[in-house]
Amino acid sequence: MHEPVHVVGAGLAGPEAAMQLASAGLACVLHEMRPVARTPAHQTDLIGELVCSNSLKTETPGSAPWLLKEELRRMGSACMQAAAEARIPGGTALTVDRGQFAAAVTDMVEAEPLINVRRGEVTGLPDDPMQVWIIATGPLTSDSLAASIASQTGQDRLFFYDAISPIVDAESVDMTVAYCASRYGNSLDGSADYVNCPLSREQYERFVEALLGASQHQSHDFDNPNYFEGCLPIEEIAKRGPHTLRFGPMRPVGLRDPRTGQSAYAVVQLRQEDARSGSYNLVGFQNHLKYGEQRRVLRMIPGLERAEFLRYGQIHRNTYINAPALLRRTLQWRQRPNIFFAGQISGVEGYVESIATGLMAGRNAARLALGLEPLAWPDETAHGSLCRYICGASPRGYQPANITFDLLPRPSPELLRRFRRRKRERRMRQCQLGLAALERFLNAHPRAA
Ligand SMILES: Cc1cc2nc3c(=O)[nH]c(=O)nc-3n(C[C@H](O)[C@H](O)[C@H](O)COP(=O)(O)OP(=O)(O)OC[C@H]3O[C@@H](n4cnc5c(N)ncnc54)[C@H](O)[C@@H]3O)c2cc1C
Repeated sequence: MHEPVHVVGAGLAGPEAAMQLASAGLACVLHEMRPVARTPAHQTDLIGELVCSNSLKTETPGSAPWLLKEELRRMGSACMQAAAEARIPGGTALTVDRGQFAAAVTDMVEAEPLINVRRGEVTGLPDDPMQVWIIATGPLTSDSLAASIASQTGQDRLFFYDAISPIVDAESVDMTVAYCASRYGNSLDGSADYVNCPLSREQYERFVEALLGASQHQSHDFDNPNYFEGCLPIEEIAKRGPHTLRFGPMRPVGLRDPRTGQSAYAVVQLRQEDARSGSYNLVGFQNHLKYGEQRRVLRMIPGLERAEFLRYGQIHRNTYINAPALLRRTLQWRQRPNIFFAGQISGVEGYVESIATGLMAGRNAARLALGLEPLAWPDETAHGSLCRYICGASPRGYQPANITFDLLPRPSPELLRRFRRRKRERRMRQCQLGLAALERFLNAHPRAA
């Protein structure tokens, strides 16, 4: 008889992990603090509550969110089964009735004899190295557990807020306008590290005016935007004066267009992220604007007129660890491999990404408890790509990720050549390769399936 595995948090990652453990024949204790203690966002005591939107993103085949969901379905995800039961019409998105979804997840968990749901707050990380634990307490992890994680991982490795800059598809940047250069020509390897979008005085003034007039997301009380002095949203910087952005994230000093030798009135810098291929981050452009407004205003930047946004900027309350500094690709904490992290606290963003890390942590925790080596999912899969990003990105200024195509491996030169002007077909092909890699992986490791 094995010791039960402990899973903390019954949002999305936690119940998925618990159901995976049960399907491997392992007993588990699923700890949930609601209703004994509450979070500022959850409204019910149900397991699997969706705190905001009821969309699990697009179901369009050939898109990255579809690939992630399709992989989950092929691995027998309990939450995907609940989503299918609770599905309501929502165009191309997988949209669910929130109440029905949570009721279906709750019923599944409660009907599972191997899962013991324990209501109450877990206030600290466990000490016993022989017990296997999964921490899946989400973006609103309780203060006492957060304090315990921070004290054991290092205070600088647990974050409480997200300040996310937008990401654009590199192919959608107009390189006849933008140019590559590093500030003052400084670059560690001699390459021009940044793509720079130059603005004339007139373009800058129009941009600032549009930014100040754009509508913002409504914040929740606990998403206090005044909190970030070192990481202000661009619209807040713009409010401080007409030139403040030019002395902040849009400063042009040390940058010259190599084609003309000229410097611009203001510059927006784009940077390729280490673990992302084919996309650029708008450096220092975290913001609170509604997504449609971001698209409209940021497309006023020369070179970004046709930018395809892979991720929009956001600022919100979010508890998450510095995964690249702490986790193995198996989602085990390097320092104490009997502890796994899953869900939003592990450094991913979004409902389905949380379910996906819950599934992987659950299966790997089962393997560990059974005396088997935990596994890393293949790079070609959306699951493997998510883990590769959260564990392999730069720990400096780490930002959580949704699944997008730039997290998947760069397509082979042959694929790029064959589908040069047919991006949709190329992506469909990449998805097929991912699903084939998943099938090989599941066949090679039947006990993880
Ligand atoms: C206000 C808000 C809106 C959001 N909107 C969206 C959205 O529209 N779309 C989207 O994709 N994502 C959204 N997110 C992100 C979303 O929270 C995650 O995608 C998803 O819920 C994370 O799943 P999880 O399992 O990691 O955490 P959660 O779903 O938050 O589950 C964590 C669970 O752990 C419990 N818990 C916390 N601390 C303890 C403790 N110490 N002991 C025991 N239990 C504990 C909590 O009560 C909770 O039930 C939003 C987040 C917030 C805060």
